[in-house]
Amino acid sequence: MNIILYLIIFVMGTFFGSFYTLAVYRIPKKIDIVKTHSFCPNCNHKLGFWELIPVWSYIFLGGKCKECKQKIRPRYFILEVLSGLTYVLIAIALKLDFLTLNVNELINLAFLALYLVALFIISGIDKERRVIQKSVLYYVLVIFVMYIIYLYIIDNTSIYRYMMYLTAAIILLIVDAINLTRTAKDSYVISMLMFILAMFVFTGEIVAIISIILALFIILATFGINKLKEFTQKIKNENANKNLPIGFYLGISNVISLIVYLFINNWCM
Ligand SMILES: [Zn+2]
Repeated sequence: MNIILYLIIFVMGTFFGSFYTLAVYRIPKKIDIVKTHSFCPNCNHKLGFWELIPVWSYIFLGGKCKECKQKIRPRYFILEVLSGLTYVLIAIALKLDFLTLNVNELINLAFLALYLVALFIISGIDKERRVIQKSVLYYVLVIFVMYIIYLYIIDNTSIYRYMMYLTAAIILLIVDAINLTRTAKDSYVISMLMFILAMFVFTGEIVAIISIILALFIILATFGINKLKEFTQKIKNENANKNLPIGFYLGISNVISLIVYLFINNWCM
């Protein structure tokens, strides 16, 4: 029975993955993510129903556009598979069981899944454009408020911790609104703080702190200390962060930390 559950979660994950690649491409260009029909970027051929199904359509079409035979970048296929695997790994780490699954557990998982959608889109856009997309952060804030309302209904006790984070988020929003210097660098820092705040809320304090340390470690290991000094110099001079996708490394670290933490917590203790 559980194999079916995990299969459903994998397929769901690939659909999410297909949505991320679309959102990462469209949101910064302000193209509607729901109404605009998916099309081939080469010949503008509108994708039919079967061509929209993630992973499967790539295999089915042999990695080519049906009309113009232009090769589809395997990156999309890889990202969809990785997204599916991420959600399955989380389900396994949580020891999700078809027979003992209850409504509260499902709702909590839904909120985590909604947060992960935002996390992947923020990471993707930051990697492509060195921007932490504000509109996606506002979406996270909406989910967060919905989560507080849900907690208020089912369990009042844990709500104070979240109210504290909500206050912090509102302070950041106000600081961002009255920020007089309006440089890209300041804006990036405020958005990054909001992203970190979301990590604390949705993946917990321990995972969030481990994520920040892991991100620093990955950045150091990838670029080395000298290159990093060069980056900080450039940021100071150009007033913008054009070189280092910190949000991307934070996002990836957050997913890895969360999965490892859940595995240790549910399987080793
Ligand atoms: Zn085409």
